[in-house]
Amino acid sequence: MLRVLVWNEFYHEQTHERAKAIYPHGIHRAIADFLQCDDIQVKTATLEDENCGITKEVLAETDVLIWWGHVRHNLVPNEVVELVRDAVLEGMGMIFLHSAHHSKPFKALLGTSCHLTWRESGDSEVLWVIEPSHPITQGIDRYFTLEHEETYGEPFVIPTPDKLLFIGSFSGGEVFRAGCLFERGNGKIFYFQPGHETFPTFYQAPVQTVIRNAVRFVAPTYRARTGCPHVRKITDEGDYVLKNH
Ligand code: ZN
Repeated sequence: MLRVLVWNEFYHEQTHERAKAIYPHGIHRAIADFLQCDDIQVKTATLEDENCGITKEVLAETDVLIWWGHVRHNLVPNEVVELVRDAVLEGMGMIFLHSAHHSKPFKALLGTSCHLTWRESGDSEVLWVIEPSHPITQGIDRYFTLEHEETYGEPFVIPTPDKLLFIGSFSGGEVFRAGCLFERGNGKIFYFQPGHETFPTFYQAPVQTVIRNAVRFVAPTYRARTGCPHVRKITDEGDYVLKNH
């Protein structure tokens, strides 16, 4: 059983009429609804929950954390960010969606400004598959199209991804590294650009397919804190002793 936690700042869907109409129960619920299945158990948490709904114990029982945030990034306490960062370094999988490019955990894990260029003009977007053999792109074939999406453009100030899986091409002319994989410590991180709150992006079948694939791909295969122990050499007798200090 894969355990997924979907985190959402849950602000626009309570304050912006169009976002509320599209996601009446919040983006987190829409994502949870299409992910939930026989072998994926989904929980949700929002900024309104105590401690953002994130504690060390919660993360210990989370295989993959999905994050959506936009205008309330600064209200996420740094202690929560450190918990998330450490969980990823130990092996928890993490998916950042759309405007989570500016979230504190994303920037803490990548170490750059994560700035990009953007415009809300209702452009359409074609998302082109770069690696058709990759588990995350299965079921997409060559590309898929979104009728409307917020335009994100380069330069996207991130470290060069370990794998680039999608490039987005907007009708206004911009291109954007729309699906990026990173490894940090024992953890795998996927950034996926579609998901503006005033478009029904998370109801689109190809978007759901990619996120579903990504959940399975970034789920931990090994999860442990890697320390910095002082070790003796392996002796002729095969003695191997860890001495933590
Ligand atoms: Zn947006």
